[in-house]
Amino acid sequence: MPALCRSLRTTGFCGNSACQHRHDLRICEICSVVCTSDAVYKSHITGKRHLAQIRGDSATSYCTVCAKMVGGGARSWSMHVAGRPHQKKAANQGVPPNVQPELLPPSESAPDGYQHCGLCNKNIRTESWSLHLSSSKHQKMQKYAAHQAVIGEATKDKHGVTISPEEVLNLGIISSSETRSGVEGRLVAKNTVPLSRIMFVSAQLISKSRNTPWSIDATAVVGELLVHGRDSPITIKCKSTHDGHFEDRVEFVFEDVALKQQFVIVRFIRLIVGDRDVYERLKPTTPYTPRIRSKREPETKVFPGEAPPATNAVPYVTKLPPAPIPKSIASVMNTGTTKDKVNSIRNTILPKILDVASHGRYFKTLLWIEEKRSEEDLEIYDEHDGRLTLNQSRKHYLLEVAGLAEKRPSVLVGDRILVQRHGSDKGHWYEGHVHFVHQKEVGLQFHCSFTGHNPGHRYNVRFKLNRIPLRRQHQALDVALRGEHLFFPVARHIAGLNAPTRVVIPYNPIIALNPAQMQAIRSILSMKDRSVPFVVFGPPGTGKTVTIVEAIRQILRHNPNARILACAPSNSAADLIASRLTMYSQDQLFRFYAPSRTKKDVPDKLVPFVYEKQMELDRVERSMRDYFSVPPMTRLRRFNIIVSTCVSASVAYGVGLQRGHFTHIFIDEAGQATEPEAMISIKTMADDQTKVILSGDPKQLGPIVRCPVARELELDTSYLERMMKSDIYSEDSPNTGITWSRTSDLIALS
Ligand SMILES: [Zn+2]
Ligand SMILES: [Zn+2]
Ligand SMILES: [Zn+2]
Ligand SMILES: [Zn+2]
Repeated sequence: MPALCRSLRTTGFCGNSACQHRHDLRICEICSVVCTSDAVYKSHITGKRHLAQIRGDSATSYCTVCAKMVGGGARSWSMHVAGRPHQKKAANQGVPPNVQPELLPPSESAPDGYQHCGLCNKNIRTESWSLHLSSSKHQKMQKYAAHQAVIGEATKDKHGVTISPEEVLNLGIISSSETRSGVEGRLVAKNTVPLSRIMFVSAQLISKSRNTPWSIDATAVVGELLVHGRDSPITIKCKSTHDGHFEDRVEFVFEDVALKQQFVIVRFIRLIVGDRDVYERLKPTTPYTPRIRSKREPETKVFPGEAPPATNAVPYVTKLPPAPIPKSIASVMNTGTTKDKVNSIRNTILPKILDVASHGRYFKTLLWIEEKRSEEDLEIYDEHDGRLTLNQSRKHYLLEVAGLAEKRPSVLVGDRILVQRHGSDKGHWYEGHVHFVHQKEVGLQFHCSFTGHNPGHRYNVRFKLNRIPLRRQHQALDVALRGEHLFFPVARHIAGLNAPTRVVIPYNPIIALNPAQMQAIRSILSMKDRSVPFVVFGPPGTGKTVTIVEAIRQILRHNPNARILACAPSNSAADLIASRLTMYSQDQLFRFYAPSRTKKDVPDKLVPFVYEKQMELDRVERSMRDYFSVPPMTRLRRFNIIVSTCVSASVAYGVGLQRGHFTHIFIDEAGQATEPEAMISIKTMADDQTKVILSGDPKQLGPIVRCPVARELELDTSYLERMMKSDIYSEDSPNTGITWSRTSDLIALS
């Protein structure tokens, strides 16, 4: 028997139509088992373990009445609940005896003397914890989690191309009399990015076997460009005369024509041929799944609120990916100590090496880990005695938030806050969208069914994490731009280059006196296509921003058609750059602010360079308000300089500016942005001609990362710092003026 395809195992796809290896890698989702051949899979699904799992015989759960763990799955749980000791305790406590099984005791991750393993969904005695981590059972769960991560990456939509349905095309259960002549299903590919040129290269079955019951018809779309806004359908056919489970994978290969970059999206296809009644009977009868109890009671029903007009102020055309935290990451992050988590993430989900191929998945994983922590951090602001007052327009409810002024918690327009009136149904919450933020209170708007409020009512209050900035980072990391010269530059990318010596006459006379700054400007002006990022670094107060501003002006002097995107991690840093460029006209310079910001935050000097859009605040009162937005496309395209924060820079891709639109991308204070934040502008907008310039201080405090696991895995190492750790940026290298320039305080700067 030939070996299993290595690429399939490590990336979720094969990608080689001539590959001679086996491709029958199967998984049992019910048991969380990876099967390395069809034969192994067949023996698994008829085996004892699989059948026990279907009956729910193996789970351990926690009884809140008896305060103890109950092993043996669904059957022994019902025996336990029916038993005398349990019934007696319930009666003594005055609670109904038919409690639900919990995965863990309340308010702690594992009972005393136990460690919780989120991967195996089990509490393990502390003394056998290290033994458990090396047990074959646990190792198998790690393997499964690793496989899930690979599948997640292979099946996710990428580079603005979506294929529906997501993940699996399931044709259901169909009798063999119907499948004899063949049953059909349809997958639809779409290009969601205007002006991008995506070629449909191929659609192939992974099985590659001649006796597969599946066939694909993609003749109408293969070799064609995916037109934005138009469906590209692919027909899948299954023809079988005998009963059985039929599963295969389809590998879709696309190419970004401008980037000459290919990428793969995988879809599973599934069909059961047989008698529907028989299969219905064989399905797991008691879906026995004890639930994980977090400190927060679960939200069983949330009445959606009314989004503020700010939400629609920017005319986005590309949709953000939902990018929910994958189960495998959630379960690893629920396993043991920080050290265990770090090891577990390294052994399972995180790609083994960080390189061009794994870059996106690597940082997506770190983002999710950090998100988990951010979610938990918000729980400390939960309120149990919240008060609401209806404002004069009788449209918004004002909620007083202690610590609002100190940004503890930080609340922005567009965020969501859940409230629950005391005494109302447990698990039922009303979602309030934040429409405005004042000094001490926020204005919320609820679903129209939120009625009957009186000033005496008290509420439970929960703050929800705003996932939009995270989803923007995921969107950028889903892009297939692989430019090695941008992300993993090495010596051959700068072979034969010398520090440029051209004559530059600076606008800012102080710079003329500073050789290092002059060198930086000469170097930036001389950057060629496929240049590695140029780094301007140095301690605070040595004129890095002055240098960047001068470089931007010199670029425009030499090329009046240049288009520059200048970003920084914070609004204040972005304001600093923009306010030094106000010698340009309103047709040349644009300072973009997110619609959630308010005008009072804008420095006077920059007011002429923003764009606002009037949105209706209240239809009845016909009141209007201005929100920050972007001007119409024709005008947006003409700006020479657009300044924004790193995260807000996603607006360019979001409203449909074409990749390659910007000749230069600057990131100032780059040492304080996480790599995913820095990637937003670069991954969504750069092509081979785009020049990337980073400035900052790698020795200063890096980006703030809350989760110790994410820190251990170096999410707090900025893109700038990672670059500077590589050989060609080393201060000991002879590459000054080629890859880097170090500003120093030779001259005191104002
Ligand atoms: Zn292969
Ligand atoms: Zn199974
Ligand atoms: Zn009990
Ligand atoms: Zn385990």
